[in-house]
Amino acid sequence: MATTLVRSKTMITKTVDRHTVEEIADGALIQEDGVITEVGTYEALSAKHPTLPVLGSGREVLVPGFVNGHHHVGLTPVQLGSPDMPLELWFITRMVTRNLNLYLDTLYSAFEMIGSGITTVQHIHGWLPGKIDLVEPLANEVIRAYEDIGMRVSYSFAVRDQNRMVYQDDKAFVASLPPELQAPMQRWYDRFQMGLEDCMDMFAHMHGRHQNKRRVKIQLAPANLHWCSDSALTALSEASKKYEVPMHMHLLETALQKEYAWRRGGCTAVEYIDRFDMLGPKLTLGHGVWLNESDIDRLAETGTCVCHNCSSNFRLRSGLAALNHFEIKGVNTAIGLDEAGINDDRDMLQEMRLVLRAHRVPGMDDDVPTTPQVFRMATTGGAKTTPYGDFLGTLEVGKGADLVLLDWEQMSYPYLDRETPLLDAVIQRAKSDGVRAVMCDGEVIYRDGVFTRVDRDGALKALHDDLSRALSDDEVERRNLSKALLPHVKKFYRGYVDPAKHQPFYRPSSRV
Ligand SMILES: [Zn+2]
Repeated sequence: MATTLVRSKTMITKTVDRHTVEEIADGALIQEDGVITEVGTYEALSAKHPTLPVLGSGREVLVPGFVNGHHHVGLTPVQLGSPDMPLELWFITRMVTRNLNLYLDTLYSAFEMIGSGITTVQHIHGWLPGKIDLVEPLANEVIRAYEDIGMRVSYSFAVRDQNRMVYQDDKAFVASLPPELQAPMQRWYDRFQMGLEDCMDMFAHMHGRHQNKRRVKIQLAPANLHWCSDSALTALSEASKKYEVPMHMHLLETALQKEYAWRRGGCTAVEYIDRFDMLGPKLTLGHGVWLNESDIDRLAETGTCVCHNCSSNFRLRSGLAALNHFEIKGVNTAIGLDEAGINDDRDMLQEMRLVLRAHRVPGMDDDVPTTPQVFRMATTGGAKTTPYGDFLGTLEVGKGADLVLLDWEQMSYPYLDRETPLLDAVIQRAKSDGVRAVMCDGEVIYRDGVFTRVDRDGALKALHDDLSRALSDDEVERRNLSKALLPHVKKFYRGYVDPAKHQPFYRPSSRV
C-alpha cells in the first residue's frame, strides 16, 4: 500500500468531551499502509514530505470515518414489500422477503453507507434458510462484498434457537393456528435449520478464516433474549470470552420484550442476561429502549455499551430510548442505522442529525445531545462496539487511516456565520452529496461520487435484473402466509403487556 498526505481546510481529530472536539486548522495527516503516522498542519507536513501524493484540495473538512453500529440487510424492508409496523407485527411482514443475491444486496447498502462517510459496519446477519453447508457460503458472500468494495466489516450471524416467530415456542404457535395455516407455518420454520451447535461451528470456522484480515472481523450475536435459549446464552457468553470477541444483542426493543423477560425470569432482561455473565465492555445492546433506571446503572457499572437505533425505534413504534440518561450515567453509545433510516436509506449524516434532535427535551439544563456527543457516538463510540475497538474513530498517530473529506462549501455557501462552530456545521448541514472522498485502511474507496473498486451502476443493474424474475413457489407461499398470519399474531399479543406495569422510563413530559 502507498503513503498518502491527506490535507484539509480543518481536521477534526477527535472528541474531547461532550462540548469539545479537537480541531486543527489547515490540518493534514500522513498515512502509511493504512496507519496514521503523522498529524499536523498541511504547511508543515507538505514541507517535510514534498513528493507524497496528496488527497484533498484544502477546501474540505476532514473527519474520521463513521461506524454504523447496527446493520442487517441491503435492500430495505419497504423496498421488499414490508411496511413499517410495530416490531412484533413487522416480523410477520418480513416473511415476504425475496430470495436475494446476497453479494449484490450487500453492495447495495454498502454504496449508501460509504456515500455518507461510513467506513465500518457492524453487520448482524440472520434468517438464512438451510443448514450450515448452505448458510456459511452465503455468509462469506456478504463478507466478499465488503472486501470487494473496501470497507471494514464486523460480521456476526445472529443466533436464534427458539421462539422464532412470536414470543412463544414454535410448536405451540403452530398448534394455535387454524389447520390450513399449520403446514405452511411449519414449512417456514423448517426452512431455517441452523441449530445452536451449527451457529457456534460456523462462528469458529469464520473466525479462523477471517479474523486476521485488516478489514474483516468476526464476532458473536445473541439475536435477542426471546430468541436465545439458556443453552445459547451460556454458549455465546463462553465463546465471547474464549475468542475474546464482542457480542451484539438486540434487547428491550419494545415493551413486549420487557414483559417477555418478566415472564421468563421474573426479572428484567438485563438482570436475566447478567446471570450468564454477559455484561461488560464486550457486550453491546441493540436498541435498549425499555431499559429501566437500575438496568442503566448496571450497564454503566459493567461498561456494557448500547447501540442507539433512533430511526428504527421511530419507524417500528418501539419508543424513545433514554439516550440523555445513558449519557449522564456514562454508558458508551453507538449509532445504528438498523434496516434503514427515516429516509429509507443508510445515511449517517442524516442519522446523526436525528439523534441530535430526537432527544431535545424541554428545559434549559445541559442534558440533551450535543454535536460532539453525537460525533463521538458515530466514531469512537461505535468503534468500541466492534472488534476494531480503539484502533478506529480518531485521527491520531497509530490509528487506522479511515477518514472522510466533506466539502466545506456545500455546508457554508452562500453564507455561514464565522462563529458557527465547525462541528455544528458538519452535524447540522453536511449532506451526502458533499462527501468528496472516503478512505478506508489507507485506500481511497470513494471519490467524487465514484466507487474506486466496484462499478455501482453495473451492480445495481445486476440486482435489478436478478429480482425481475418471477416469484418462486416458496416466495408466493411466504407472501400468502404473512398476510394470513397477521390477525393471529395480533391476537397473540393482545393484552400481552399491561400498560400500567411497563411505563417507559423516559417520558419527556415528566421532565418539565
Ligand atoms: Zn436490528
